[in-house]
Amino acid sequence: MKKILVIEDEAPIRENILELLEAENYQGFGAENGLVGIQLSREHKPDLILCDLMMPEMDGYGVLTQLRADPVTASIPFIFLTALSDRTHLRTGMELGADDYLTKPCTPNELLRAIQTRLQKREAVQQHYMAEIKQASDKLNDLLYCDSLTQLPNRLSLAERFSQILNSCAPTDTNKLIPVLCVGLDRFNRINDTLGHETGDFLLKAFAERLKTCPDTGATIARLNGDQFAILLPPVEKKQDAAGVAQTIQNSLSQPFLLDSQEIFISASTGIALYPRDGTSLEKLLQHASQAMQLAKQQGGNQHQFYTAVFHIATSDDLALETEMRYALERKEFQLYYQPQVSLETGQITGAEALLRWLHPKRGLILPARFIPLAEATGLILPLGEWVLSAACRHAQQWHQAGFAPLRVAVNLSSRQFSQLNMRQRLTDILIETGFSPTYLELEVTESVLLENSQAAIRRLSALKALGLQIAIDDFGTGYSSLRYLQQFPFDILKLDRTFVSNLSADAKNAAITSALIDLAHQLDLKVIAEGVETEEELAFLRLHQCDEMQGYLFSRPLPAADFEKLLKTGKSLPIQPDRGNL
Ligand code: C2E
Ligand code: MG
Ligand code: MG
Repeated sequence: MKKILVIEDEAPIRENILELLEAENYQGFGAENGLVGIQLSREHKPDLILCDLMMPEMDGYGVLTQLRADPVTASIPFIFLTALSDRTHLRTGMELGADDYLTKPCTPNELLRAIQTRLQKREAVQQHYMAEIKQASDKLNDLLYCDSLTQLPNRLSLAERFSQILNSCAPTDTNKLIPVLCVGLDRFNRINDTLGHETGDFLLKAFAERLKTCPDTGATIARLNGDQFAILLPPVEKKQDAAGVAQTIQNSLSQPFLLDSQEIFISASTGIALYPRDGTSLEKLLQHASQAMQLAKQQGGNQHQFYTAVFHIATSDDLALETEMRYALERKEFQLYYQPQVSLETGQITGAEALLRWLHPKRGLILPARFIPLAEATGLILPLGEWVLSAACRHAQQWHQAGFAPLRVAVNLSSRQFSQLNMRQRLTDILIETGFSPTYLELEVTESVLLENSQAAIRRLSALKALGLQIAIDDFGTGYSSLRYLQQFPFDILKLDRTFVSNLSADAKNAAITSALIDLAHQLDLKVIAEGVETEEELAFLRLHQCDEMQGYLFSRPLPAADFEKLLKTGKSLPIQPDRGNL
């Protein structure tokens, strides 16, 4: 049922209209003045608003101005009700963006017709909008789900298939194994180097064709990258079933490939990992299958190997680092660096992402890629993550006090932190302690926090958002990101991963994905920040496609807090586009 809000200070008129609406099967509700009307509009997002022009306190113009300024209410059809005597003011109303006006008194028919016309138009606009979203996401799907060289599914399709298989397994099926095979051509780099990339590509395509004939139906064959392919099999009873597929692949290569009547023999190595024994996420399984494949290659190639946990023994360096990390927090060896985020429209710094650094007394600067995974594995990420949050809020609060409001600060949240039970409470405590307003805080999460249990993830994200902060989806476009996430989860910001941004000018596919993603994100009301912008060409492309903000070496590397503050003081900005002049 369509909801219609009637803002009218004269109770008898209001009640009359509401009765009429009810009789016509609309859900009408009334507001006795402008302020109440604005509040109800925000809360209930009506499909249409009827508003009296002359009201005490706030008149209809005031109401319309405020509604149009708020993205939530800006597009709601708005019809003015005016007494004959104020018709002269109508022009103002139309200029403010009213959709129609009716002169009081009007007949029920006039009123209903005006309502219907506006609702129909809105419906048409919404349908158009949905169609655009669908078109953009279809286009992206094609680009995102398919490998352009071999036309095989890619990593993302594989991830979707994997969750389908998992979901279709009964929980009682505990003795089922899901095999993940990683297949690579032996000495492929040598072929590429000696025979050239074209031959290499030809072989990859031919190999892909042959792979398709190997496993039984139900298998998903995907190309991961370079010469690495993955095969996901439906559940099997015993691991030998997976070995059978690997053997078939080897056999299929006993026949040479024909290239310009020249015969080329190649062999392949396969690594096999089994769910749940060798990992419960596809990421882990692929990683382990790939390790097993490396072993198969090292042992001469043309064979398969199962992953065994023996590979998994942490290196002694990991162990040392882990022990040292336990003390590093007390010894204050961690430090936050800040990388500016810059508006492409104004060229001004709008915020900064906090990036963790470990200044190790002996080893020097250690980057997060080296120690965050260890911190996650040991649980140390929890105290460390809390430290990061409070240090970032403290710094940002200082900058605000130094006059750099409304600078935002973005903090990365690891999935382990995200699923911590009292995360929201801890964050609230930190906000109170530091006095920093959550309005300026952004939390960056990666899709790994969404994969496990999406209902719980939505609840958690919404609970965090209720504090008033914003949520960014980080590294979007890598590995497993799925378009579904964008619609399903309450994100505010999409961070486009560096892998898409790099080489935008040279790589047509990256360029197509990037522009389609920006489009889609905007249609879903997300702000887009491009990460890792290194060149003027990349920047120009992003500008052309209306990306909102950028972050990257081109503007600034991540800087220690004090240096970042200095940068703020210099007022450094991105040169904005040359003025195109007036139309
Ligand atoms: P991220 O959140 O995607 O951060 C962006 C990374 O790209 C940073 O690497 C940054 O230094 C790097 N980068 C920025 N601009 C450029 C550029 O123009 N070119 C290139 N090549 N790289 C650029 P960093 O600082 O090594 O961080 C790596 C990752 O570690 C982060 O990726 C984030 O996922 C994680 N991380 C960093 N700090 C924290 C933290 O405090 N907590 C948690 N949980 N994770 C963190
Ligand atoms: Mg980040
Ligand atoms: Mg990122």
